[in-house]
Amino acid sequence: AGIINFCANNYLGLSSHPEVIRAAVEALEKFGAGLSSVRFICGTQSIHKDLEEKIARFHQREDAILYASCFDANAGIFEALLTPEDAVLSDELNHASIIDGIRLCKANKYRYKHMDMQDLEAKLQEAQKYRLRLVATDGAFSMDGDIAPLREICQLAQKYDALVFIDECHATGFLGPNGRGTDELLGVMDKVTIINSTLGKALGGAAGGYTTGPKPLIDLLRQRSRPYLFSNSLPPAVVGCASKALDLLMESNAIAQSMAAKTQRFRSKMTAAGFTISGKDHPICPVMLGDARLASVMAEDMLNRGIYVIGFSYPVVPKGKARIRVQISAVHSDEDIDRCVDAFTEVGRKHGAL
Ligand code: PLP
Repeated sequence: AGIINFCANNYLGLSSHPEVIRAAVEALEKFGAGLSSVRFICGTQSIHKDLEEKIARFHQREDAILYASCFDANAGIFEALLTPEDAVLSDELNHASIIDGIRLCKANKYRYKHMDMQDLEAKLQEAQKYRLRLVATDGAFSMDGDIAPLREICQLAQKYDALVFIDECHATGFLGPNGRGTDELLGVMDKVTIINSTLGKALGGAAGGYTTGPKPLIDLLRQRSRPYLFSNSLPPAVVGCASKALDLLMESNAIAQSMAAKTQRFRSKMTAAGFTISGKDHPICPVMLGDARLASVMAEDMLNRGIYVIGFSYPVVPKGKARIRVQISAVHSDEDIDRCVDAFTEVGRKHGAL
């Protein structure tokens, strides 16, 4: 009781939104608990097709395909798309599911230094000998709250005839003027070819993932992507949640903007208090502490003050870069944010972090 959660990916507060919950209950009652089937046997209902159409419309893409999770979407795309004659170029700090997806494919693999455009260019030059090049990056990186330089990546992709893939798990629904994501924020919606994202964070927080992009790619995934072909269809209640979340976001950008204002409040108050917050303008606000033990005892003390946050240390983040990762949500009130900052200031002073 009285504990405020500051470590969920519930960026827009939609996982507890009454309309989202009602949509899930209605879908459960009308369409059943589950399909007991993969999509291509008897696991496709009208709501699955409607949700795919809605996702494509939201991202302004031609088509979309649903998966049980974004982990599956990432596991299924590279192997289906790339052959030994192709190359994939991946940011070294990409999410584990992208790394695993790339491991499964037979393309030639390049890992470029985190957000380092010189290194990416050098690797693109090396990869000119291959038939097709795919640059893969997280849109927003979840450990540091930093945003991929998509404008520069897309310019390089154009110069070296490559496709661009982004994982938008920490961007969909809230980055950019209308919450479309990193590509909207950076003005490159027409230059990014493939988007993978999750329904398990800002879009209702239940579960599920998807790929959206050109129709021929989505057709190919329906034929060849193994996690799509060989895993159960998304349950109706989960589809109902995500579908309603997208409706709410397409009606108005008010929720996304309220989250952005709260992020701004937290970041500026914490910086004024003397803390170093990594990243810029993102609701992932890593409070950089350096020492693993300090991060852990401070997180414990924050909980004693009713603030739920978690310390991250090696091997989740590099040695010497321990931090407490705070995540801001649209459901936090200004008072909640201030309570969190006050608790950090108190606990930081007590443990010598300030
Ligand atoms: N990609 C990124 C960047 C993530 O942060 C996550 C979740 O932690 C995933 C993919 C996997 O998403 P899901 O939970 O839908 O499998």
